[in-house]
Amino acid sequence: ATPTAVMVGTGVGASQGVLIKGGQALESAHKVNCIVFDKTGTLTVGKPVVVNTRLLKNMVLRDFYELVAATEANSEHPLAKAVVEYAKKFREDEENPIWPEAQDFVSITGHGVKAIVQNKEVIVGNKSLMLDHNIDIPIDAEEMLTETEGMAQTGILVSIDGKLTGVLAISDPLKPGAREVISILKSMDVRSILVTGDNWGTARSIANEVGIETVIAEAKPEQKAEKVKDLQACMQTVVFYIQSFNFCLDLYSLFLLQASGYIVAMVGDGINDSPALVVADVGMAIGAGTDIAIEAADIVLMKSNLEDVITAIDLSRKTFTRIR
Ligand code: ADP
Ligand code: MG
Repeated sequence: ATPTAVMVGTGVGASQGVLIKGGQALESAHKVNCIVFDKTGTLTVGKPVVVNTRLLKNMVLRDFYELVAATEANSEHPLAKAVVEYAKKFREDEENPIWPEAQDFVSITGHGVKAIVQNKEVIVGNKSLMLDHNIDIPIDAEEMLTETEGMAQTGILVSIDGKLTGVLAISDPLKPGAREVISILKSMDVRSILVTGDNWGTARSIANEVGIETVIAEAKPEQKAEKVKDLQACMQTVVFYIQSFNFCLDLYSLFLLQASGYIVAMVGDGINDSPALVVADVGMAIGAGTDIAIEAADIVLMKSNLEDVITAIDLSRKTFTRIR
């Protein structure tokens, strides 16, 4: 494409709320044949709400939520915000709730939080966080977790003084049109993959709802980036072959390159997506996402619409196939 065509392309993008940071980003997008989607805030609305609470110990709901909110009030995580928001309804002054002081607050990335509140040790997070603290998970808690995950919700466990006390179900619905976007991408020969820090059960349910077949769950930020590299790797292997073996093999390799090399786009909104956004051939950040993700990306979807993933690829395809 001519420089003018690239300028026109980025200009059209900008006018549609698709911010393309330079010609290279616009060029790479037309070759994308695999997209890795983050879950929370990318495929889902990203405004989770508590929809259910089950107490396993004899405790007043108000007292339970006081301890949980006092702990979560120190976390920036969307799930923490959902919990604090929900806990407000048990306070006298809902608008300006005052939580008890939390001491020794610790945030365990990708797992949850803990603190000492009113001399009690409060741990809020996923199953592996509980197991790491040697907390037994009773059968009814397991059952509620399974049920919750089956409904594509996230189950959060609460332990107080070493005893599992409650299970919260938190719902974060799919963005409208998400399913259609995945199906249109499929028709454009672009494969979609879901990668999330959330648990396998919830991840599979969401993937099922949205029509994605390949799922990676319980992924740490570096693992999200690793997955992107893996998808690109078939191609790296092939390039190695091309350099090392005879001409016949080169031809075969070129064939393989066509068949299995993925040009990968990553779509995400969180700090935990930024390593993957950098590693991907094209990093696309959701406009409503964190500044760090927006900085790490090559393309920013200013309107935070998933449809704009298609807009970006379309624009790139038009710019780079017309002029050739
Ligand atoms: P995602 O990739 O979906 O944004 P994260 O990697 O941030 O997820 O978190 C993974 C899991 O760790 C969450 O699904 C939740 O179970 C648990 N978790 C993380 N932070 C918190 C928190 N502040 N409160 C409760 N649970 C948390
Ligand atoms: Mg996210």
